[in-house]
Amino acid sequence: MLQCGMPRLIYSNAELTKDDKSALQRQIEGMHFVCGTILFQEEEEPLGNIIAQKLALSCDTDLERAYYNPKTGRKNFETPPACIRCGSRSNLQSHSDLHQAELTDGKECYPICHTCVVAGKMPVALPGAKKRHSQARVENNAKKQRARTDLAP
Ligand SMILES: [Zn+2]
Ligand SMILES: [Zn+2]
Repeated sequence: MLQCGMPRLIYSNAELTKDDKSALQRQIEGMHFVCGTILFQEEEEPLGNIIAQKLALSCDTDLERAYYNPKTGRKNFETPPACIRCGSRSNLQSHSDLHQAELTDGKECYPICHTCVVAGKMPVALPGAKKRHSQARVENNAKKQRARTDLAP
């Protein structure tokens, strides 16, 4: 967890030992670590060739999708629901909230918090999310309705 509040992921191709973990912890604490900072050069032993990070990140970058559904390493790794846009764990909107707010285009979305919705950030659909046409229609009609109202003198 960083100063900006975003959880960022570190990927490893091997299970980290206790020593590895504390070395990692020390490294993070010993540097000014912000989103996208590189922790270890590749040739830096021993962690440099075990762990990997996404570097094309800034504090505005969405939470990495892998956060929600890690393919491996699940057994010690359970992630609490968090807003995909800002990483917040509070005031998360339920799907029915989002449906009601007509923001989903009929699709199931990653968690997003109330603050982000109010700030005009759009929810992000789950990969391969099926579109519920009835919901999409409701949202579309509502959008048209709003557009008409905007145009009305
Ligand atoms: Zn950040
Ligand atoms: Zn948020």
